[in-house]
Amino acid sequence: MAPVHVLVFPWPLQGHINSMLHFAAGLLGAGLHVSFVHTEHNLRRVDLVKAAASPRLRLMSLPDGLPDDHPRSVDDLKDLAKSLITTGTVPYRALLASVLAADTADAGFPPVSCVVADGLLPFAIDIAEELGVPALAFRTASACSVLAYLSVPKLMEVGEVPIPVGADLDELVRGVPGMEDFLRRRDLPGTCRLRAETNDVDPLLHILVNYSVHSSKARALIFNTTVSLEGSALAHIAPRMRDVFAIGPLHAISAAPALPTSLWREDDGCMAWLDGHIDRSVVYVSLGSLAVISLEQFTEFLSGLVGAGYAFLWVLRPDMVGESQRGVLQDAIDAAGNDKMRVVDWAPQRDVLRHRAVGCFLTHAGWNSTLEGVVEGVPLVCWPFFADQQINSRFVGAVWGNGLDMKDVCKRAVVEAMVREAMESGELRMSAQTLAQQVRRDIADGGSSTTEFERLLCFIKELTA
Ligand code: UDP
Repeated sequence: MAPVHVLVFPWPLQGHINSMLHFAAGLLGAGLHVSFVHTEHNLRRVDLVKAAASPRLRLMSLPDGLPDDHPRSVDDLKDLAKSLITTGTVPYRALLASVLAADTADAGFPPVSCVVADGLLPFAIDIAEELGVPALAFRTASACSVLAYLSVPKLMEVGEVPIPVGADLDELVRGVPGMEDFLRRRDLPGTCRLRAETNDVDPLLHILVNYSVHSSKARALIFNTTVSLEGSALAHIAPRMRDVFAIGPLHAISAAPALPTSLWREDDGCMAWLDGHIDRSVVYVSLGSLAVISLEQFTEFLSGLVGAGYAFLWVLRPDMVGESQRGVLQDAIDAAGNDKMRVVDWAPQRDVLRHRAVGCFLTHAGWNSTLEGVVEGVPLVCWPFFADQQINSRFVGAVWGNGLDMKDVCKRAVVEAMVREAMESGELRMSAQTLAQQVRRDIADGGSSTTEFERLLCFIKELTA
């Protein structure tokens, strides 16, 4: 059988790149060839030396259509999405056509025989199929959030969405199958709420619903999740897709080669700082790669963290807060002492969460961060920001029991109380660790995710035979 070569194309954001690179690492570990598509902007930011260590991995790039200095945080996502669709399709088609022929410049790289594209890039799936290449969709968000998006048309039909301004957000939502007993209005993606200023729904909601439905056209839908976390959501999604694979948490599959994922330079100094602290004495705070917080929110977090009394390590990306916030923080550090607070632009998060000194994780509940916290058995305090984070944090607080959900509230007293509880509650720690053991069983030999990954490899090989 000819060697299999998969083209992997994520949405060009850190969270999407991370899980699809871990997926690529799994394919490489199984002996496949991978072409991984970045945008030109992101390719300039990754560690190419590390990537070169995998001879069967080839990094490729496409323009994203934006100037290099155009901001790419959460407020600018719509620009990026629009520009990718308007300017990315032509170069993508050309790139794909070029890798369908055996490339003499890349001796040993067979022609691409299969595409795995982000489910939020439906054009990448359609164009691949048009060119005769079988395409699979990969969602980097939780399965429960995808099920919520798939349920939106029905929720609209019965009047549960859009959620009116001023409605009781604690009321249960009945129309998402399997979640009738615990999913509240406030746990749906924020785009399901009517916007106060315009009294309409953000058009992004319809786009995300359409993209979720579009995955049914792909040969299969892959999730970075596990049956023991999201078995019910997966079972409800499966009949709506051609096939579904739950193969996560991919970052924890040890056989995979380590690939360079970070778009920011990691501050390794924080690991030595953690070494200087006793077991479970530090709060790790990170709101991911996109969230931007206001001065007021920043002040509430800072006061709550200081009030809780534990040392903390806080990731504040340069584009996340203004200079004035950094000044306030520096004053607080000067007052409290350097071993009580450490602030970094970007941390080696998976290593941090694995460190014995970390006692809890204050997170925005992005899906990667949630999985990384789950695998390490660290209790979470969730302050969801947008998209799937609202529903992920509900699962943490009400279904898995490995943390607390601070949704829709950003008050110093609440931050302080929840951080204390997460650091001190034996019950919470116990359920976080029990969950971690369960998920580790899923990714061990013979576990559900490992078995699904093997089934996926056979599926891809059959498609390309
Ligand atoms: N991350 C990191 N260092 C940091 C903060 C985040 O390596 O200082 C990684 C984190 O481990 C995760 C990803 O960035 O894999 C963020 O993805 P997630 O889905 O949690 O959130 P998003 O950034 O998409 O909102």
